[in-house]
Amino acid sequence: MLRVSNPKKLREILRPHLRENSVIGLVPTMGALHQGHLELIRSARESCDYIVVSLFVNPLQFNSKGDLDQYPRELNEDAEKLMSSGVDVLFCPTEEEMYQTIPKTNMSFGSLESVMEGSFRPGHFSGVGIIVSKLFNIVKPKKAFFGLKDLQQFMIIKSLIRDLSYDIELVGIPTVREENGLAMSSRNGRLSAEGIQIASNIYRTINKAVKPIRAFNNPESITLNVKEDFERIEGLELEYCELVNPETMCAIETYEGLDYVAICVAAHVEGIRLIDNLYLRLN
Ligand code: AMP
Repeated sequence: MLRVSNPKKLREILRPHLRENSVIGLVPTMGALHQGHLELIRSARESCDYIVVSLFVNPLQFNSKGDLDQYPRELNEDAEKLMSSGVDVLFCPTEEEMYQTIPKTNMSFGSLESVMEGSFRPGHFSGVGIIVSKLFNIVKPKKAFFGLKDLQQFMIIKSLIRDLSYDIELVGIPTVREENGLAMSSRNGRLSAEGIQIASNIYRTINKAVKPIRAFNNPESITLNVKEDFERIEGLELEYCELVNPETMCAIETYEGLDYVAICVAAHVEGIRLIDNLYLRLN
């Protein structure tokens, strides 16, 4: 596995592979790698000739300096984890290599970003859109692999690819969870044993809603019940919980015309912000 930090150097390395028409797969990450990231890579290996994993904690998508400073950075351990994973290049640029100047470009994704993550983290998706576009332009992948754990991000990237005519197949990978149901996340490492216990209630609580969601066409009262369940969990502070149409990310009033719904949650445990969702087929 090559470890490259300079974008120009990466372009040089990729040029012959692009000329040969190899299927280049891109797996963007912010590092502190876990089994969820490795699942994206495993899927990339199944259908790509050449795999680039990027590892970059993108300052542009953090709306809180404290959160950015506390984000785990474990480059050497991450490189070690990737050694036997079939990755061809680990692309780990510095901030200066990625942004010579602070970008003047802004991206907005209309109604897709006016809710949930977009409304609680102003500027977040613009930062995501910019870094993902830069990575697409540097790597020129045929396929890009993203986790459905970040469902709103996934839908935004889907719209970015369509709107800007990127010739890239977007592959969504289901959320990988701990045995107790907690969605794997680089942020979990900052939770105490008790915090992990509390955080595992996030999945348990949204999972409990599956039956009522399928049984009753009453999104408002189901959401209300789930929120009440969350309020009863000691040590957990709910930021939002919404039952949405996964195509628009907007809260729904009825299931009419929908094949899928998603229940999306953000919550704080021990001061750490965690997100999760369930993507559900209605019938
Ligand atoms: P991050 O490093 O957190 O920015 O995540 C990089 C990619 O891995 C994103 O596409 C995430 O959606 C995906 N990812 C993160 N956690 C998980 C998980 N538990 N299961 C599947 N994919 C994940």
